[in-house]
Amino acid sequence: MLYQRFKNQWRFLADSSDLEDDAVRRIAMVASLVFMGVGLPFIGLWAWAGNWTVPMAIVGAEIINMGTWYALKRGAPSRICASILVLDLLACLVISLYHMGGIDTIGSGWLLTTPLLACLLLGYRAAVGTFGLTVGAIATLWCLDTVGTGLPDAIPEDIRAPFMMVQLMGSLSATVLLAGTWVATQRGEQVKRQQAEEGLQTTIQQMQDGLFVLQRKSKAKQADFEIEIANQAGRSILSDMPEGHEDLDLNRWFEALPSHQRLDALALERGKVSQVSLRHPFSDRHYEVKVAHWDQRLVLTFHDISHQKESEQRLKEATDQAFEASRAKSEFLANMSHEIRTPMNGILGMTELALETDLDPDQHDFLATIQTCADSMLTILNDILDLSRIEAGRMELEAAEFEPRKVLEEVQDSLGSRATLKNIDWNAYATEDVPRALVGDSLRLRQILLNLAGNAMKFTDKGEVVVETRLMERVDDSARLRFEVRDTGCGIPAEVLPHLFEKFTQADASTTRTHGGSGLGLAITRELVDLMSGRMGALSTEGEGSTFWFEMDFPVSQILMPPAGTAEILVGRRVLLVDDIETNLRVISGQVRRMGCRYETAQNANEALARLQDGIDSDDPFSILITDKLMPGRSGMQLASLVREDPRHDGMLMLLMSSSRTQGDTSLARTAGFVGHLTKPVKYPALKRELLQLLGEQEPLPPPPSFPKTEVADPADGDLAKDDADAKAAVKESAPESLAARILLAEDNSVNRKLATRILEQAGFEVTSAMDGAEALRFVSEDNTFDLILMDCQMPEMDGYEATREIRGLNETTRRIPIIALTANAMVGDRKKCLAAGMDDYISKPLKKDAFLAMLQKWLVEDRKSA
Ligand code: ADP
Repeated sequence: MLYQRFKNQWRFLADSSDLEDDAVRRIAMVASLVFMGVGLPFIGLWAWAGNWTVPMAIVGAEIINMGTWYALKRGAPSRICASILVLDLLACLVISLYHMGGIDTIGSGWLLTTPLLACLLLGYRAAVGTFGLTVGAIATLWCLDTVGTGLPDAIPEDIRAPFMMVQLMGSLSATVLLAGTWVATQRGEQVKRQQAEEGLQTTIQQMQDGLFVLQRKSKAKQADFEIEIANQAGRSILSDMPEGHEDLDLNRWFEALPSHQRLDALALERGKVSQVSLRHPFSDRHYEVKVAHWDQRLVLTFHDISHQKESEQRLKEATDQAFEASRAKSEFLANMSHEIRTPMNGILGMTELALETDLDPDQHDFLATIQTCADSMLTILNDILDLSRIEAGRMELEAAEFEPRKVLEEVQDSLGSRATLKNIDWNAYATEDVPRALVGDSLRLRQILLNLAGNAMKFTDKGEVVVETRLMERVDDSARLRFEVRDTGCGIPAEVLPHLFEKFTQADASTTRTHGGSGLGLAITRELVDLMSGRMGALSTEGEGSTFWFEMDFPVSQILMPPAGTAEILVGRRVLLVDDIETNLRVISGQVRRMGCRYETAQNANEALARLQDGIDSDDPFSILITDKLMPGRSGMQLASLVREDPRHDGMLMLLMSSSRTQGDTSLARTAGFVGHLTKPVKYPALKRELLQLLGEQEPLPPPPSFPKTEVADPADGDLAKDDADAKAAVKESAPESLAARILLAEDNSVNRKLATRILEQAGFEVTSAMDGAEALRFVSEDNTFDLILMDCQMPEMDGYEATREIRGLNETTRRIPIIALTANAMVGDRKKCLAAGMDDYISKPLKKDAFLAMLQKWLVEDRKSA
């Protein structure tokens, strides 16, 4: 305990006696001058006494003294110089005392000056050290004087008195001078400190931030502080009080805040500056408060951030408003395009019906033009609807299992006739490594591909358009696919490329005039790709063509889809594929590989003949030859004739591929020795069916439709495309007896009702129409013999969803009647809503007659089958 107190005291003294470097220098220089002055008379005195050793020692000490003074003046380290001074003085004193006769002489009083000087200059620690040295010197002198031989007393008796006088005067004046300098130095330091403090006070008062130094009132109460220092700004924060609260102190101010902002919470961690943003509890100002610890005190600064908060708030409001405005605009657009679709339904449908009546050529032409115009207007409307849906955040994505190859085949089919018309090669395919089944929104994927490939076709007049899909990366159950849509069209100028995906952008106005378009296609495509977390881009060289690509991740489907049937008879067959176009070869080789065949490719007739020869030579002849019709050099026809003439190739199945065909072509092909004729683009199922048929193990074809065929006949299926008149004649035939069904149509819009009724009646159905959901419900509850119900979704009184739920709840029979929704737009969300309400399917308006009837056929036939 005592030791501890001593230790504390010592530390206090030791720490507090250290002077500033500058003060040490000043005192040390004065001290060296004093000793220089005092030393000089002693040289004379000692010489007078006849002793030369001491004057020599004093001269030596004076030289060291002068050197030290000079060093101090030149800025040498002050404490080292001061230590030299102290030791120099001590040494000089010891030599003098030795010659004076020991410590029992008046000269010993000088010994006091050394620890004193050390203390003044170097602090408490040095004083104690010097004290030790001095005591050591005293002891040595005493020992030498008493125990040893005794010390020489060099001062004769007669000059002892004046010698001692000078001695005393010297030591007195040295002490006074040193003490005076020390006091003056201290005073100077004090003034400086005072000035600094005043400066600090002024600064603190002038600060714009509020500042408080708080002292803890009692140790027991953690959060009870009193203000020790508060600046002007701080006081005004505290005075910013409502009436009746003027006497509030800082403690109560903080108590009015939420608990995590109170002083006790903020003052928790010592040694750490806590910071918090808080609102003045009695006004609407905001502060950023910093709390730091200083000894037992807290230092608080309040930085006013009210303006910042206000701007943040204003910015937020402005952003919210902008978002809201943009959302409202998109919502408006979505609603408007939805509204416009309703009359469009009337225009398109009625035109379609009118076109089937007896018209003179002019009238037919006028109506056909109306139809084309309405069609393109609908395309633009669909684009706007899609874009505004996406922007309004109302586009939902579906996550369902799908086969990417099927999607590509659909895309291939959709644009097939356009490619044939423009006479360009057209292929959409996936490489082998692409997984068979994925999970995602195939509808949107198809839309993206159709947009890009549609554009490619629009801007390509010769050459080819290819959609290639390949696997980029496969990590566990996720596959990254890259889709590339390449064309050999007009290309896009480099300066337009970066803006291509912006809305309403078209590469150049003149192209637009030639090709039409809204400039929304790519913007929608980009938004869709973004929505599906993919990325996309475009490369192009003007005059050479463009490549649009996108990459997306898809989960690989875990549910095993039934494997595509591989007819045994095809497995291992050797097939020779001949085409001058690389892409075509790649596609068709992929298809024959899927069938399990072995294949070789050749790019012209000569190469093909060489391969056939190789086959025979290696005793592994080809059994199937599939060749393009038009090739540089010998044509496909010529190749076939040559093969037929060679008896070694007897039995070889030869198939011809061409972009289009006429009846004449087919008979020519027969003559040349072909047994089959495929129309490009060749589709996998068609090719497989054709081969199986030729090999005698035909896969059962889907049953021929019992209803007028509604889709444009696929040339690749083996039938030649029916001409328009045939198709119309087919549709005009009434529904077969088996399908003469009773249909309830619930639709509030009179034009739409009229249109649907006309189509249905023309097809031979019996139609009952209801004006709204409630009426439909009434009809069904009175008579439940309807075979199918067509239900508009949005109707007054009772909408289609509610009507469906009610009908489903009526009885056992009504639970099974197929109900098909007529929606104004085919969004994923709407579809889910329809199915959730209990409907079986949906068809979007404007109603396209063929698709509409196909939908009815599907449900009526299936219904009958299941019944
Ligand atoms: P649009 O509906 O007008 O076609 P898009 O957004 O689909 O609008 O395309 C914007 C423009 O980009 C087109 O007008 C065309 O100038 C250019 N473009 C798009 N695809 C191609 C392509 N494959 N080749 C050349 N130009 C293209």
